[in-house]
Amino acid sequence: MKEKLEQLLAEGKARIEAVRTEPELQEVKALLLGKQGTLTGLLKELPKLDVSLRPEMGKAVNQAKAQLTELLDTRRNELKMKASEVDPDFDISVPGILPPNGGLHPITQMCYDLNDAFRSMGFEIFEETDLTSELYGFDNLNFPPNHPARESMDTYWLEGHDKGECWDKLCRRPLLTGGSVRYMQTHKPPYRFVYPGKVYRNETTDARHERAFFQYEALIVDKDFTFASGKVMIKSILSKVFGRDVPVRMRAGFFPFVEPGFEIDMGCLVCGGKGCSVCKHVGWIEVMPGGTPHPNVLRAAGLDPDEYTGFYVNIGLDRLVMMRYGVDDVRLFHSADLRFLEQFH
Ligand SMILES: [Zn+2]
Repeated sequence: MKEKLEQLLAEGKARIEAVRTEPELQEVKALLLGKQGTLTGLLKELPKLDVSLRPEMGKAVNQAKAQLTELLDTRRNELKMKASEVDPDFDISVPGILPPNGGLHPITQMCYDLNDAFRSMGFEIFEETDLTSELYGFDNLNFPPNHPARESMDTYWLEGHDKGECWDKLCRRPLLTGGSVRYMQTHKPPYRFVYPGKVYRNETTDARHERAFFQYEALIVDKDFTFASGKVMIKSILSKVFGRDVPVRMRAGFFPFVEPGFEIDMGCLVCGGKGCSVCKHVGWIEVMPGGTPHPNVLRAAGLDPDEYTGFYVNIGLDRLVMMRYGVDDVRLFHSADLRFLEQFH
């Protein structure tokens, strides 16, 4: 039996040495030390031995078992070390396969850029829900009762009334400006804030119009704020966002919630001023109506128009993005077409 054990030990050592992979090692382990293993078989033969020989043989078999177990562990560690080594044939300069990942929508990117620009000038960011009511969408903003924008041809009216007021109809936000009144009613002046968001118009879509689009409004209200300061602010914001000087012109414009009102046009960057479908072939594009808040709007917000004045600008976010990238159809931004959107990563 002693010779048998020595032979088994020598064979076992050689097998462990020859192993090349982890599964092979498991196989050898089972062969030697498993339930049907050779060494286990030897242990089972012990009771057949003469009683005087049993202790010595038992010790020898257990020693052999310990020795083989240690060898198996050592070999396993060696194999692990080898597996983590770089194969000399592996070319680390070959580009890997990139997992597909998303990016921010170009309108979101523009919104964030504007947030940064306005924040750097001390503005707060205010968000309101997409649902509003006739009171905040029109009445507070000095829209006369018979104004055509209130018609269902322009505005999406919903069933139900705001906070149970039977006269205050709910609608999808037709413009952001109502949110400014909500903000002013709940904060103390002076104000400097922006309120970006989506607005809804019930209209036919074309290259410049969509049923839902993003706007970005900013409002300053203070006891003493001049029109000239507002103009400087717009210049700084546009140059920050576009990273260069952009041709800009201001002209008088009418909006119920401002007095006086203006319209800011940017030189069309899609065609460089020559004329294209985006700028209706005039070389300029309206990007920013605005003006001084109308006294009725300030009253609705709980302020005295003799004491306070201010400056509104309403930035057409979609149009600004069209200018940034030279995109000539606003509908592409809402098309969810990845071939289009992936260009802006
Ligand atoms: Zn153009």
